[in-house]
Amino acid sequence: MRKVFEVTQTVKGLGYHEKIAQLADWLRKAKRAMALTGAGISTESGIPDFRSPGTGLWEKVDPMAVLSVQALRRDPRRFYREGFSLFISTLESAQPNPAHQVLAWLEEKGFLAGVITQNVDGLHQKAGSRLVFEVHGHMRSGHCLQCRHHYDMQTIVDFLQKGEVPPLCTCGGVIRPDVTLFGDPMPPDFWRATQEAEKCDLLLVMGSSLVVAPANTIPELVERVAIINLGGTGYDYRADLIINEKASKALLDLKAELEKDLRRE
Ligand code: NAD
Repeated sequence: MRKVFEVTQTVKGLGYHEKIAQLADWLRKAKRAMALTGAGISTESGIPDFRSPGTGLWEKVDPMAVLSVQALRRDPRRFYREGFSLFISTLESAQPNPAHQVLAWLEEKGFLAGVITQNVDGLHQKAGSRLVFEVHGHMRSGHCLQCRHHYDMQTIVDFLQKGEVPPLCTCGGVIRPDVTLFGDPMPPDFWRATQEAEKCDLLLVMGSSLVVAPANTIPELVERVAIINLGGTGYDYRADLIINEKASKALLDLKAELEKDLRRE
């Protein structure tokens, strides 16, 4: 479990560039570090997050009414028309942004062991990250609620485009995406991710409000936590370092800082 740790005192009052330098130093010295990402890392790829003021999806839909497992069972047509369609429309064309790319670079250079993500967009893998734990599932596939037959996402999208809403399996059951909806149990990747986090001495959180449970308990498992996020998070009171900046800018600056050393080697 996380130690009660007083580093926050030492990083208070630092300016932006000093914080980046501090984070680079922690990454160099960490025995094992992982990143924990949320929807905010993908906003610069054109995918809205849930809670950013003005653009967050929560301002458009009531999640429990359209994106919960209860909503899917109660009214699958509405789930697809009002909930699923919001996601899929932005996901299809999205490409990784510099923040995803720098995380893949950090893994390649040995600064990070991998990424734990709450995102379902697959952009970490697209950017080249190799060890990725998807604690809320993914949008690559779906399965029938009745017989569990597997469908790839393109087949599901084809059904929807032909007007088959909700998409139905040959057995007549409703097909659902392999994402973790409100009310679903956590997938095996969540439990694997918690085991990975317990092995780490540094966690770099970015683009997450850290209010969605139980993913927001992962920082508690790690001794030292640094946060890069535009807005406040549910863990700011305990974080060791907080950088309120766009993920892509902060990560590009972090990469430049780490490269100074790599060039000297
Ligand atoms: P959230 O919407 O609760 O919080 C996102 C946070 O990111 C906010 O605090 C915001 O200030 C910050 N942010 C926005 N743009 C940023 C940027 N460019 N750089 C740095 N920070 C930025 O998201 P969450 O904590 O991930 O929790 C919501 C849930 O939403 C997750 O479970 C996730 O599965 C789901 N979700 C995923 C996607 C996706 O896959 N891309 C998109 C929307 C929602």
